[in-house]
Amino acid sequence: MTSFNESQLQERISRTWDESIVPSLVEYIKIPNKSPSFEPAWEELGHMEQALQLALEWSKSNLPEKAQIQIKRSEGRTPLLLIDIPGERNGNVLMYGHLDKQPEMEGWDDDLGPWKPVLKDNKLYGRGGADDGYALFASLTVVNALMEQNVALPRILILIEFSEESGSPDLPHYMDLCTDLIGSPDLIICLDSGTGDFQRLWTTTSLRGLIGGTLRVDVLKQGIHSGSSSGHKRSEKMVAMGTWICEGFGWNAVSIDGPAHGDRGPVQKSTDPAYREMWQQPDVVGTMVEDWKCVINAFVELDSTDPERIGFWGLSMGTMFGIPYVASDSRIKAAVLGKSGLTGSSVERSGIRPYFEESAPQIMQPVLFSIQWDDERFDRQGQLELFDLIGSSDKRLHAYPGRHQDSGPEALQVQAEFLKRYLE
Ligand SMILES: [Zn+2]
Repeated sequence: MTSFNESQLQERISRTWDESIVPSLVEYIKIPNKSPSFEPAWEELGHMEQALQLALEWSKSNLPEKAQIQIKRSEGRTPLLLIDIPGERNGNVLMYGHLDKQPEMEGWDDDLGPWKPVLKDNKLYGRGGADDGYALFASLTVVNALMEQNVALPRILILIEFSEESGSPDLPHYMDLCTDLIGSPDLIICLDSGTGDFQRLWTTTSLRGLIGGTLRVDVLKQGIHSGSSSGHKRSEKMVAMGTWICEGFGWNAVSIDGPAHGDRGPVQKSTDPAYREMWQQPDVVGTMVEDWKCVINAFVELDSTDPERIGFWGLSMGTMFGIPYVASDSRIKAAVLGKSGLTGSSVERSGIRPYFEESAPQIMQPVLFSIQWDDERFDRQGQLELFDLIGSSDKRLHAYPGRHQDSGPEALQVQAEFLKRYLE
């Protein structure tokens, strides 16, 4: 084992740190070289280049004997800085660091700031000094200090990238490009981690993962509900309605896919051939009714569900299955139905009429029945007749202008208020 004088090593490193590294980090902190994800114009702005030049200059004046500096550049990518230090003994060590920064963020004390280096209580504040500006300086300094004591070192390659805070999108490219130069490292040291305190050396033996992507969140500008199209349970309309019920009323909401919808099949629109086929399935109505019963069975088991206050809200296809279901499940205490009737193209496609004729008179719960005055899929007269068939003594009919898909937030509001009134 190679021996060295530890206190001499300490002294040498501390001196370089105070006299040369801290002043360089002070200059480095002033450069707003945000990682490409946080600064798309990083190349034009030239801050990254400025950081590279600072690092390059320092490396040149602190270059270990026989070491070589290389800068790799590929179009549209951040650069890569390599310092290749030949070894006197076997072994290949890769030392890693990065010279791009996180964005400014908020919460800085009044006297501090991201691009304002401040030395306070023996600590250097500012963006990028600790993550990860020090890595290059620390690596070169320790190599030089060991060499000065004639410690025989293996080959060491210092690799500094400039896109780490963006998830290192350029690193794999350069790893490929520099395969021969990198070789097969026996040890990789990444100087880019946190520390629990300042009393001891901390090493991190594993890395957390990272997933990069663009998250887009769209919020509806108006309430839309079932019947505007055959929405599956995760469609934005269903999620918006569920969210609205949960957040507006503090209730639980559950939505399931209709047969051949969502996770159960390909139907997107009522004009899909698969929609017509769906209605040909043996006992499609009875099966869907059983599905709803199963869902409610599970739902009433939840502590947060009051089994005495369950409502049903289903329009269009939600009513085609909803009428037989509500008629057969007395746990439903109030129902919003509609956008459906005894005649019209959707009735012909589905063959639902006999189910309506049998079930509607059995519905005894309070019902709000909502229709579109110029519905092209269920004609007006047929909608009125279906309303008439519903057995409840407590039922009301609301009509809204427009075609099948036209009802807007006003109808949604009224329907929700109806359920609220009967369930609270
Ligand atoms: Zn870092």
